[in-house]
Amino acid sequence: MSEIRLQVKNVSKSFGITKALQDVSFDIAKGEIHALIGENGSGKSTLTNSLTGIYQKDSGQFILDGVEVNPRNQVEANNEGISIIVQELGTLDGLTVAENIFLGHENKFVKCGIKNTGAMNRKATELLKEYGFERIKASDMIEHYNFEDRKLVEIVKATYFNPKIVVIDETTTALSGEGREELYKQMKRIREAGNTVIFISHDLPEVLRLSDTITVLRDGVYIDTVKSSDVDEDGLKKLMVGREVSGEYYRADYGERVSDEVVMRVKNVTVPGLISNVSFDLHRGEILGFGGLSESGMHEIGKACFGASFDREGTVELQDGTQINDIPTAIAHSIAYTSKDRDNESLVMNQSIRDNICLPSLKTLANKLHLLRDGKLKKFAQQFAATMSTKMESVDQFASNLSGGNKQKVVLARWIGKDSDILLLDSPTRGIDVKVKQDIYQLMDKMRKEGKSIVMISEELMELIGMCDRIIIMKDGEINGEIMRDKDMDENTLIAKMV
Ligand code: ADP
Ligand code: MG
Repeated sequence: MSEIRLQVKNVSKSFGITKALQDVSFDIAKGEIHALIGENGSGKSTLTNSLTGIYQKDSGQFILDGVEVNPRNQVEANNEGISIIVQELGTLDGLTVAENIFLGHENKFVKCGIKNTGAMNRKATELLKEYGFERIKASDMIEHYNFEDRKLVEIVKATYFNPKIVVIDETTTALSGEGREELYKQMKRIREAGNTVIFISHDLPEVLRLSDTITVLRDGVYIDTVKSSDVDEDGLKKLMVGREVSGEYYRADYGERVSDEVVMRVKNVTVPGLISNVSFDLHRGEILGFGGLSESGMHEIGKACFGASFDREGTVELQDGTQINDIPTAIAHSIAYTSKDRDNESLVMNQSIRDNICLPSLKTLANKLHLLRDGKLKKFAQQFAATMSTKMESVDQFASNLSGGNKQKVVLARWIGKDSDILLLDSPTRGIDVKVKQDIYQLMDKMRKEGKSIVMISEELMELIGMCDRIIIMKDGEINGEIMRDKDMDENTLIAKMV
């Protein structure tokens, strides 16, 4: 048995009536990648956030190399040799890239009471270069960068000082292939240096491939710790949900004919710098997939069809001739959109789950006098939060307090409540565990059968293959191929058109 790095001893933490962690104990070794898995809301983030000073545990101990640690914030955690790449956005607007990397450690660059910005930028530039992220400039404001690049900055921030433990909380789902490879490389580097990675991911093949050891949590309770070489995916799923996961995962039908009826006609849509001259028809009851590399422009398709793109050219036309050029028109015509970046674009974090779910449906929820009754809103929100089995205390809770997968459920609940006819879903299962993924796939299949039309944009090729009637592959902002649903389609068919 290798040497112990961290002992988690009887750790408990509650939020109101939610027992997020109940008396959790297990050991993590030096020089290993230790995965932490469990369904959404099982307590993974609560555990790692407590370890890294973001939350304060209620009771129990963290013992690092034989000494109890109790960081009150992330800077103290860093000083103990513990860092984290958080699940949500972990960089701060209004600061430069360099300031974000050295946040809380600026005193390294202070001489005689004066902050030496030049030295800080030089050091940050050096690090970015070392990591191969030269295209990110140390002196730029962080908000100039997209979600993925900001995650890359976080990788640098969390690992440059060779901490004893680096926590990586569901970061891979936010990254494209290239970003993932970079992260994997860093994880292995940390292990080689004899340090420890605590790795949280819902991607079980990824977990099995990368980690040495896996600990499973379920509903805040410790279930088991296993060696990766001793388990397979089905075994892990069983540990996570506490029973065999059976039944169809994706939709099961093949060879069904999609209706000829066109519900949305997209013609010559161009968004400068992102997509050019994209045209396609969306049919009634169709699930139309968009795949490609993350920079292929595919993430702009959903926005463009929702009337949310800046500077869009070309037309998006509905069956009745309505032109979609702005979001209010899209919503009024029963179009839904969920963004890949759900924190910034989909949810209003500092509002309740209730308000988030009711937002697009307010018009229909108002009475004849255009008044909104609290009770009615609450009931509506409860109904659709329950449809998605959202794990929460109540619909009055802030959206920001939900776990990542549950945020996604709230986003979907909102649009199901609105009874949308066309759903533009960008990365609908990003960061969501197997059980909820299956729920979402089944829901999509049900909606399709009801004659609703879905655009599914995804970086996960398997779910595109499993769910779509047709897949359009994007490359460099243009359509580079179209593939029809087929039993024999495999990932390589798609990849060939992506790169
Ligand atoms: P995981 O990371 O495994 O998906 P979390 O640790 O985020 O799960 O959440 C565990 C439980 O604690 C969930 O029921 C979640 O709603 C709740 N929870 C997490 N953070 C907060 C918070 N800040 N306020 C209230 N409840 C929270
Ligand atoms: Mg989490």
